[in-house]
Amino acid sequence: MDASHRNRYLEAIGVDVWVRRPGGPLGALEIPERAQALAPQPAPAVPTLEVAEATEPVSDLAEPWQALRTEILGCTRCGLHKTRTQGVVGVGPQRTDWMVIGEAPGAEEDRRGEPFVGRAGHLLDAMLRAIGLDRRTNVYIANVLKSRPPNNRDPKPEEVAACLPYLMRQIALLQPRLMLAVGRIAAQNLLSTDMSLSRLRGKVHHFGELNTPLIVTYHPAYLLRTPADKRKAWEDLKFARSVFRELTDRVGIDGNLP
Ligand code: SF4
Repeated sequence: MDASHRNRYLEAIGVDVWVRRPGGPLGALEIPERAQALAPQPAPAVPTLEVAEATEPVSDLAEPWQALRTEILGCTRCGLHKTRTQGVVGVGPQRTDWMVIGEAPGAEEDRRGEPFVGRAGHLLDAMLRAIGLDRRTNVYIANVLKSRPPNNRDPKPEEVAACLPYLMRQIALLQPRLMLAVGRIAAQNLLSTDMSLSRLRGKVHHFGELNTPLIVTYHPAYLLRTPADKRKAWEDLKFARSVFRELTDRVGIDGNLP
């Protein structure tokens, strides 16, 4: 991806980019005021990320995915089934290297049956595209909870406990190499901690029996309310991409990562 494409993606997520001052000497860069305050780093080239080769035919995954979907849509394990419009399973390929996990469906997701739609979803898509990911082809997006809590309240521990087995089955089917937890609630529930999001960022955590690497960043809905933190989210995405690159290098994937 060339610099102009990359800059368009960064502009789409609201991250200021370095611009050469017209007529200025080589290396003279005009830095937007907001970016100066945030001490930006020049953005690296955007890689095209390798999609995992399925170790079994996709046709073998279709049946367990369909069974899981049917169970979630008919689930009554917790009280949220009484107030939801529909269960929201997730979106993406049946097996993939990257998985994004949020908190729970909001009103729009509950209505449309897909996670991360609306303004927050558009921002998430732009953030993912900035590191070469696309929700339809090489990243799976889901939530900890599959049903919407009324009035978007925080999930209750018993609701998370009831719903987590579905997420575990999704992870077992996907076998992601890297998980990205977006938002405090998702991160705290996945990591069983009450640490703040700022303390959870910038580290590689691990999740579940597969010990899957997990990185924490901001929820796009928060970033819409607090655009000054978009640059930190961009740093998190670059960190995730570098961790993924190390992982794939270690296992010898012959990809086209830079
Ligand atoms: S939130 Fe999860 S456990 Fe509760 S009803 Fe929905 S699918 Fe079932």
